[in-house]
Amino acid sequence: MGILDTLESQVDAVVGWGRKYSLFVYPFVTACCGMEYMAASCAHYDTDRFGAAYPRFSPRQTDLLLVVGTISHKLAPVLKRVYEQMAEPKWVIAFGVCTCTGGFYDNYATVQGIDTIIPVDVYIPGCPPRPEMVIDGIMKLQDKIQREKAGLLRRRTMSVAEIPSPDTLSTIGGLTPHGQSKR
Ligand code: SF4
Repeated sequence: MGILDTLESQVDAVVGWGRKYSLFVYPFVTACCGMEYMAASCAHYDTDRFGAAYPRFSPRQTDLLLVVGTISHKLAPVLKRVYEQMAEPKWVIAFGVCTCTGGFYDNYATVQGIDTIIPVDVYIPGCPPRPEMVIDGIMKLQDKIQREKAGLLRRRTMSVAEIPSPDTLSTIGGLTPHGQSKR
């Protein structure tokens, strides 16, 4: 290993250390898991210890998208837009089984896992997940960030680019997005 490689690995380590302890969170909260997010964020569990307690409600000021709760197909384009507005490097945590797989909402209206819309770094299962599981998920993400190359732009392609348009949705199951029958 040459001196440049050594220097690069040291820079990677320092930048990774800085990034993993300065996570600015965008909480994309849609459903009941939000209560557990609040519990995990407040003083008793204190995610501030992990540098991940400061929510920002502008995607341009955040690097961690925390998707909390059920995502409907109608909401999917909004979630994707928020992700695209975040600056690189950025990371995503799926919070709760509804975001991971759709959970027990196995129906035409619910996205069956947000990784069909945006890339996901860490999945936290549970309905809802306990705050200890949330903290464990944040720590796993920190490990992942520490191992990343500092100079690597993490722009990733979507696993599935297609998101149903409102027109498509209006024909699924013969229902409009508001649940009225078209027949
Ligand atoms: S995982 Fe359970 S608690 Fe969380 S949004 Fe889904 S139904 Fe609600």
